Amino acid sequence: MLTVMRAPSRYVQGANAILELEKHVSSIGTKFYVVADEFVMNMTKEKIEQAFGGDTSKLVFEEFNGQSSMTEIRRIEELLKMSGCDAIIGIGGGRTFDTVKAVGHFSKVSVIIVPTIAATDAPCTALSVIYNDEGEFSEYLFYPKNPDVVLVDSTIIAKAPVRFLVAGMGDALGTYFEARTCLNTKSANLVAGAVSQAGFALSKLCYEILRDYGLKAKLAVENDAVTPAVEKVLEACTYLSGVGAENGGLATAHSIYNGFTILKQCEKTMHGEIVAFGTLVQLILEDQPMEEIENVIDFCLTVGLPITLNQIGLTDYTSEELMRVAQAACKEGETIHNTQGGVTVTEVYNAIVTANAMGEEYLQLA
Ligand SMILES: [Zn+2]
Repeated sequence: MLTVMRAPSRYVQGANAILELEKHVSSIGTKFYVVADEFVMNMTKEKIEQAFGGDTSKLVFEEFNGQSSMTEIRRIEELLKMSGCDAIIGIGGGRTFDTVKAVGHFSKVSVIIVPTIAATDAPCTALSVIYNDEGEFSEYLFYPKNPDVVLVDSTIIAKAPVRFLVAGMGDALGTYFEARTCLNTKSANLVAGAVSQAGFALSKLCYEILRDYGLKAKLAVENDAVTPAVEKVLEACTYLSGVGAENGGLATAHSIYNGFTILKQCEKTMHGEIVAFGTLVQLILEDQPMEEIENVIDFCLTVGLPITLNQIGLTDYTSEELMRVAQAACKEGETIHNTQGGVTVTEVYNAIVTANAMGEEYLQLA
């Protein structure tokens, strides 16, 4: 297997970056189809128009319905076709980007991503997570290229509720451990290649930044403030986590997330929050040293990421439900199968209940 490394063509980040949007996209499009949900549209429409010097002839706005499903992708694809736009801009969070990336790919137009929250590593990747109309995980779609431009406005993100940033750190927490598994087992990354040294180094840096600056960044964002630590953590959650995961590959943590999407009780829990718990499950499943597990638990406790089933929304559950989660996590094609020696449903179930018991233990000590 050949080593493959990919990333967005341009990554821009900083305070009030959105006001410089046109400068960074003018070389890849002439008329832009802007997609955002109602809340984000109200918050950013004026700034986007301002970024284009008030020239609204270059912009067409459309509201996103909230679900990255094939139904929504086809709807926006049709509208884009009629608009005459040659580029699509997705503003908001993960599901908006998943939809916009799919539309950009099917319509063969340039893709620009502007996150307003740092809740997931979706901005930089060349893949979409597709849900069915009921909101359950359905499939991943993989594209031949990454978004053309990813622009992160740290001022906007710092004003969003801190839970989003913490969830982003949860998503980023899995990156290093999942990449390490893929590297060790010579499994393919998300771009069908072997893990590169560069990809692995990014995933490692991602974890180091979380550990060293995560709390500082969280405290700043709780006070709507942008500090150097916020910029570092935003880069970790957006670029290092996304490019790290794509080139480093995924393993158990993300399959555990996919597994829990089948339970209604977890509907309100964010992707990254479940990935954080999934990371703990992965370390138990792989039987990693206690010291490493404690470091991960300490980090989760410090920034407020879940380490128990209760904390990811399961206040009431049966062992039969957990078994169904384990089965879903082990479906064919899931990245959990990148684990050394393979895994069985029973092993995964056992790792979930043990991770939960360990989390409960540390919560009592904290
Ligand atoms: Zn993720």
